[in-house]
Amino acid sequence: MKVHLERSDIFKVAAILGVLGLALLQENRRPLRKKLPPQESRKRIQTSAAFAVLAGATLRGFPWPHKSAAFAERCKLGLLNNAILPHKLRLILSFLLLDYQLYLSHRWSHEVPIIWRLHKTHHSDLELDTLTSLRFHSFDLMLSNLFQAFWVLVWGISPKHLSVFEVLSIHFAQLHHANVQLGKSIEESLQKVFITPHLHTIHHSILASERNSNYGIVFSLWDRLHGTFESKPVESVQVGLTKVKRPERARFLPALLLPFTSGFEE
Ligand SMILES: [Zn+2]
Repeated sequence: MKVHLERSDIFKVAAILGVLGLALLQENRRPLRKKLPPQESRKRIQTSAAFAVLAGATLRGFPWPHKSAAFAERCKLGLLNNAILPHKLRLILSFLLLDYQLYLSHRWSHEVPIIWRLHKTHHSDLELDTLTSLRFHSFDLMLSNLFQAFWVLVWGISPKHLSVFEVLSIHFAQLHHANVQLGKSIEESLQKVFITPHLHTIHHSILASERNSNYGIVFSLWDRLHGTFESKPVESVQVGLTKVKRPERARFLPALLLPFTSGFEE
């Protein structure tokens, strides 16, 4: 099978690998949480690599939001395609709207039991670091893509603005999953605007009462508006799922089968 990669794909992969490398370096220098033993870490890297390939193939194979953006632009559909706005304002509005859509779809993936089953694959990681941002079930990504495609059509997001948001939101996800201690004052300042590693740690808590918070991807604004913002010390937060305690259950195939082998609750 021949895989055709465009220049923009190569740029995206290089940018993702660059941020991944930077996050891994910083994680070694100033970790926020204790890391897994080295042998388990090596197996986890293999699992993460398999998830990265799966996520890349899913997004490449089902580019519904991009198709939707191109169709909306061609047919002049959607609110922004029919509004007379300065280019920069349209870019800012598109970015905010797309980030809000990710907040909503992430929240639903926790609150709608059938979607939570799929999203559990992401939360089943025993350690939380930048590699966790690669770990998603294909069906979880496809559902989120489907919702985004509809949203892109309604708002008339341009293909270029969608691509800018896609790359930047991936980088934000890589950074807020990172096991990095930012320091109290930087952390507190950043939390006012962005989702930070500290806030996202609470979202990955084993306790549903803590986990059902901080759904944002880029901005913390949506959580503040909807009352789902939670900031508290994270030293005692245990990440993962109560039913996934053994490392073997968190590896690639068991994690992919998790939506079909476990209940709705955990
Ligand atoms: Zn989640």
